[in-house]
Amino acid sequence: MGNPYVRGKVWGGSSSLNTMVYIRGQAKEYNDWAAQGPEYKIWDWDHCLEVFKAIENNSRKNSDENFRKFHGFDGLLHVQDSQNGIYDVMSGLIDATKNLGIPYNDDFNGERQYGVGIYQFTIKDGKRCSLADSYLKDALKKVELCPDSKNDGFGKVAAVDVRSFAHVLDIIWDEENKKENVAIGVRYFCNGVVREAFIAPKGEVILCGGAINSPQILMLSGIGPKENLESNNIKVRKELPVGKSLLDHPSCCIVAKSTPNAINHWSNGAEVGIFHKANVEGKIPCKDDFFDENPDIQICDPSIKLYNNKHDKFDGIILLIILNVPSSVGHLELKSNNPFDQPKMCSNYFEKSNDLYRMISSLKLCREIFKQPPLSTIYNVKEIGINDEFGKWCTNGDDMSDEDWEKFILNKPSLAFHASGTVKMAPESKEGVVNHRLQVYGTKNLRVVDTSIFPYIPSGNTNAPAAMVAWRASRLIIEDYMVGTS
Ligand SMILES: Cc1cc2nc3c(=O)[nH]c(=O)nc-3n(C[C@H](O)[C@H](O)[C@H](O)COP(=O)(O)OP(=O)(O)OC[C@H]3O[C@@H](n4cnc5c(N)ncnc54)[C@H](O)[C@@H]3O)c2cc1C
Repeated sequence: MGNPYVRGKVWGGSSSLNTMVYIRGQAKEYNDWAAQGPEYKIWDWDHCLEVFKAIENNSRKNSDENFRKFHGFDGLLHVQDSQNGIYDVMSGLIDATKNLGIPYNDDFNGERQYGVGIYQFTIKDGKRCSLADSYLKDALKKVELCPDSKNDGFGKVAAVDVRSFAHVLDIIWDEENKKENVAIGVRYFCNGVVREAFIAPKGEVILCGGAINSPQILMLSGIGPKENLESNNIKVRKELPVGKSLLDHPSCCIVAKSTPNAINHWSNGAEVGIFHKANVEGKIPCKDDFFDENPDIQICDPSIKLYNNKHDKFDGIILLIILNVPSSVGHLELKSNNPFDQPKMCSNYFEKSNDLYRMISSLKLCREIFKQPPLSTIYNVKEIGINDEFGKWCTNGDDMSDEDWEKFILNKPSLAFHASGTVKMAPESKEGVVNHRLQVYGTKNLRVVDTSIFPYIPSGNTNAPAAMVAWRASRLIIEDYMVGTS
C-alpha cells in the first residue's frame, strides 16, 4: 500500500480542512489555458480575474486603489488578513528574508507574486470559510423545502438536494440510446443501499469529486483509457486519456535548530510566504531571481517549535518549500472496478532533473535565510541541520553536496495536496477529456467541475482556482440551459 493522499470527504471537500491560504496563481498559467484555441478565451487571465473578484469578499482594511483593482468585496468567499497579526519569530523570518534582498510583498494576489509577505486566508470573523460555508449553504437557503420533506437525512428540496454519507458509484446512461452516451443520472451507495438519482429534464450530471475521484467515476462509467478499463472488465463507452496527466506541487521540508526556549511560540500554520524563482542548476538564487515576474517556488512556514521531544530538546523553525511550476507529470489509473478501492496514483515527483535542481536551489536559499539576523541573533538559530527523522540530526547542511541534497529530497518528498489535471480541459486532439465548456467529449449531459480540469496547474494553492472554475461553470451551465429552453 502506498502513502494515503489527504483530501476532504465532507461538505465543501478539501476547502473544509485545508490550510486556508488564499492564493490564485499567476496570470501566465491562465493565459496558457486560454492559448489552447479561440474558444478558450473565457479562461484567460482577464476573464479569470473578473471571476476571482466576483467570488471574493475581501475584508482588508484601508485597501488602496491598487489593491481594489485586483480584489472583490461583494462575493461570498470571505478572505481576510491574519486577524491577530503574526508571531514575533515570523516577523523575524520576514526580516531575515528581506536582509537577503528579497522584497516585501503585501499582496501575493496583486500586481506581482514575488517577494516575502503575510498570507491572506479564507476566513470569516475568525472562522474557516469553506466553499460549503460560502456558496453551498447560501444556495440551500435560497431553495424551498418540498412539502413532503422528511427530516431523515433525505429531505427533498426543490433545487438542491444534498445527501451526506453518499458514495457515487458510476454514471447512469440512457441505455435506449444506442448511438450516443447520454448521462441521465448517477448510482450511489448510501445507508447500505444502492440508490439512483436522475437529472431533471434538460439537466446535467456534474461531477465534482476532485482530481482523484472524478476521473475514477468517469472510468468506472466507461470513459477512459481502453486498456485500463478492459483489464478491469469495464465496457468502454468512450476512449479518452482520463488520469493520464496528474499534476501536483511536490514539496520538501528543511529545519533550523535553535536553543530551547529561544522561540517560545507555536505557529498555527502557514502565516508567511516567500515566492522566488529557483536556479535550474541548483545554485543559490541570485538577486534577479528575487524579482523575476514568474516565481516557481513558494516557501511556507507550516509550524515552528517542532522539536521538543524527550531525546533532543531544542526549538526549531521549519520551512516547507513547494515547487509551484513542476515539469514532472504523474498519472492515475483504476486498480479495480470496485468504486470503494482508491485508484492507483503514480506521482512521478522530481522525475525531471530540473525539478530536483530547482528544489535544491531553494533549500540552499532557506539555509541562507536561517543564517540572517534576527533569526541568527535574537532567535539563536545557530545550527542548520538536515533532519533524518523528526528530532534526529544526521548532518550539517554545510557539508552537503548536490548528490546529498538529491538523496535528501527523494527520501522525504512531501506534498502540498494540490492534485489536478486528471480530466484535462484541452482539445480532444491534445489529450483533452473535457472541452472549454467542461463537457466530456463523446458524451451528452455530462460535465466535470473541479481541479481535475486544470490543463496547467496554477502556481499557488488550488482552492481559489477551484472556486473560480466552479463559478465560471455555473454561468456556462445557465447559458446552455437557456439555449436548450429557448
Ligand atoms: C491538507 C490540505 C491542505 C490544503 N491547503 C490549501 C490551502 O491552504 N489553500 C488552498 O488554496 N488550497 C489548499 N489545499 C488544496 C485545495 O483545498 C484543493 O485543491 C481544493 O479544495 C480541491 O477542490 P475540488 O473541488 O477539486 O475537490 P475536493 O475539495 O477534494 O472535493 C471533492 C468532493 O467530492 C466528494 N467525493 C469524492 N468522491 C466521491 C464519490 N465517489 N461520491 C460522492 N462524493 C465524492 C468528496 O467527499 C469531496 O467533498 C489543501 C488541500 C489539502 C488536502
